[in-house]
Amino acid sequence: EGVRRDSAVEKGDMESLRKFSRQEYLKKREQKKLEELKDELEDEEYLFGDEKLTETELNEFRYKKEIYELLVNKSTQEADNIGEYRMPDAYDQEGGVDQEKRFAVSLQRYRDMDSAEKMNPFAEQEAWEDHQIGKATLKFGAKNKQASDNYGFLFEDQIEFIKASVLAGDNYEDEMHAKPYQDSTGKSALDMLQEERKSLPIYSYRDELLKAVKDHQVLIIVGETGSGKTTQIPQYLHEAGYTKHGKVGCTQPRRVAAMSVSARVAQEMGVKLGHEVGYSIRFEDCTSEKTILKYMTDGMLLRELLGEPDLSSYSVIIVDEAHERTLHTDILFGLVKDIARARPDLKLLISSATMDAQKFSEFFDQAPIFMFPGRRYPVDICYTTAPEADYMDAAITAVLQIHVGEPLGDVLVFLPGQEEIETMEENLKQRIRGFGTKISELIICPIYGNLPSELQAKIFEPTPEGARKVVLATNIAETSLTIDGIKYVVDPGFSKLKSYNPRTGMESLLVTPISKASATQRTGRAGRTSPGKCFRLYTAYNYHNDLEENTMPEIQRTNLASVVLALKSLGINNLLNFDFMDPPPSEALIKALELLFALGALNQLGELTKVGRRMAEFPLDPMLSKMIVVSDKYKCSDEIISIAAMLSIGPSIFYRPKDKKVHADNAMMNFHVGNVGDHIALLKIYTSWKETNYSTQWCCENYIQVRSMKRARDIRDQLEGLLERVEIEISSNSNDLDSIRKCIVAGFFPHTAKLQKNGSYRTVKHPQTVHIHPASGLSQVLPRWVVYHELVLTSKEYMRQVTELKPEWLIEIAPHYYQLKD
Ligand code: ADP
Ligand code: MG
Repeated sequence: EGVRRDSAVEKGDMESLRKFSRQEYLKKREQKKLEELKDELEDEEYLFGDEKLTETELNEFRYKKEIYELLVNKSTQEADNIGEYRMPDAYDQEGGVDQEKRFAVSLQRYRDMDSAEKMNPFAEQEAWEDHQIGKATLKFGAKNKQASDNYGFLFEDQIEFIKASVLAGDNYEDEMHAKPYQDSTGKSALDMLQEERKSLPIYSYRDELLKAVKDHQVLIIVGETGSGKTTQIPQYLHEAGYTKHGKVGCTQPRRVAAMSVSARVAQEMGVKLGHEVGYSIRFEDCTSEKTILKYMTDGMLLRELLGEPDLSSYSVIIVDEAHERTLHTDILFGLVKDIARARPDLKLLISSATMDAQKFSEFFDQAPIFMFPGRRYPVDICYTTAPEADYMDAAITAVLQIHVGEPLGDVLVFLPGQEEIETMEENLKQRIRGFGTKISELIICPIYGNLPSELQAKIFEPTPEGARKVVLATNIAETSLTIDGIKYVVDPGFSKLKSYNPRTGMESLLVTPISKASATQRTGRAGRTSPGKCFRLYTAYNYHNDLEENTMPEIQRTNLASVVLALKSLGINNLLNFDFMDPPPSEALIKALELLFALGALNQLGELTKVGRRMAEFPLDPMLSKMIVVSDKYKCSDEIISIAAMLSIGPSIFYRPKDKKVHADNAMMNFHVGNVGDHIALLKIYTSWKETNYSTQWCCENYIQVRSMKRARDIRDQLEGLLERVEIEISSNSNDLDSIRKCIVAGFFPHTAKLQKNGSYRTVKHPQTVHIHPASGLSQVLPRWVVYHELVLTSKEYMRQVTELKPEWLIEIAPHYYQLKD
């Protein structure tokens, strides 16, 4: 009485179970299974009998068959012949995996198993059965009525992981270092923050660090991510008096990091953000006369150099997150090194999370390295036993598996970009809804570059008791941001990387496998406050054989036009002699010079022209800057800066709610009436919004993201200010769409393509097959000649933001670039 009988478990079963020890039971089960499997395999028709198998059953069957064959036939020579192995893209989109690859996959699965498992092909089945038995026992024993049916609702698409290694911790057993228990009673928030500051690893090295800074002009600082480098060092320098005669500037490769870290430091110092502590990112300056600690993107410091070549308002420059090796950081290295030689009073700190310090030291004339130990708990590393065909699905499953199967603790998922994060957020929410109240609360927090700052703060809010937080992040969380409380990391193994072909001058953002160094950093994020686990959604084999050691520095895989323009305006004429830590490919430099010459920014001697000087004032890609500068001539600067602002906010203008896709698409098509092209459509969106007096209601009605529009408005205001600075008058010519189009062509003439017979396009200058992006208003129209804003490579090479052009414009506008064929 009082013990409900579970209908799924027959009483007889339970009794017979109890008769055996578990081991005996499993052994018997295994034998029985093997026999069954043998029967199944001998009779392949079983598969196609009346009974329809589910996809999962079918896969399971195939998998078992492969394992069985491996075990029974143990043909090692055959096995060794399969050398070919690829990252998950071996599965193409149609789901076709050829037999050989499938075999290689199962072989890998087999190789990856540890030996105990190898003896037993049913380990997975057993684990499940174990669990079922355990559950039944619990239920019958009525010890814990809450034993939930975790496996039950996940079994369908469960991912099998094996623990392969451990990322060792440092000092973790040292209890003295653990965060002290904090009694919040009677303490102000500021006191608490001060205590937290003292609990950071860097605090023990504060005095030594300050002494090293005093003794050396240039110092390389290396310390574990999360140890307090970014938030504490500027404060220590301030406390030690370095802000008396100048600012402390600290560069960050990412906007979000600059914003978030400065907010934290302002909080710790008890000041308002934008006063003593501020940040400066492109199109957003949150500093004032008072600002003494200034966080900024590396790109912004580069821009500041244009106005203040010796950085005279700074007493210290910290180039932070140096290991990221972004383009702007690399360029800054060469520039600040030079400035430090000319300004002995300037202190220069290069701070990095990884061990590449020797290289930094060598570059900066053997500057000493200040390395302090971090504090990290060990992290178990688990790999999948087979490659996952779809890392997004796998990531969702992994999160759910963690949520129902692992003790509480927050989860951090690394995804390539905003789109992937938004998709996963939506899908994950949907899956959770399906579970109703069966699982505890899961709080989903996205974080990526364009996320509005009020939402960014959410990732740092403490997780309520009994709930679990899942942070969906881009690479930003790899080293730039530290979120306390993360216990689990899910690493699909990809990030979005720029890649550039200097031969064609084409640049794409590609979802690319990460490097081993990245994988290690990601793993480390799980061990900040307690031991953790990292689930890698790839196999150990992938890790060891397919991943590069380090990510290639951005300077070697990007279009250099904008930095070359910046360097030229700094008066650096001989770029081949510039002090690069790792020089870019010389083709890429030459390509950049050629483009700037074609745009009229440089003359034949490679010197900056008046046009180039004006272009350099805009914090934009040189092609966009050219489009703006030339709008003076076509008397349509008013329209052009609206278009430039809209192009700068990226693709997130419309939203398409799942249940209202048709409405959303219709709303979008309204702006494309007359097939005006995407640029003009962007202009129409902006002007229509302006005509409603920037109404939020209007945005909602048209399925337009009001946040994106507000950002466009911000950017536009600043571009308007910059127009004034380069003495271009605001002029409007909204009826003459061709003038506007000609301006676009004057900036983007290297980005033109011509329609082919098969409906694809061929780029004009360096022939390559491309397509109009499906989201373009012209994707069904297919004009003969088009100019495009950018190429993105997803399943195909797509042109995004496309406008029709007349070929004769090319001869008129860029005669030095295009000539008529006889
Ligand atoms: P490092 O630069 O060495 O990687 P940080 O200085 O960024 O380390 O971080 C030190 C500590 O400050 C971390 O524990 C982190 O959680 C905390 N922290 C940083 N930014 C914020 C923020 N915006 N909100 C709350 N905590 C933060
Ligand atoms: Mg940092």
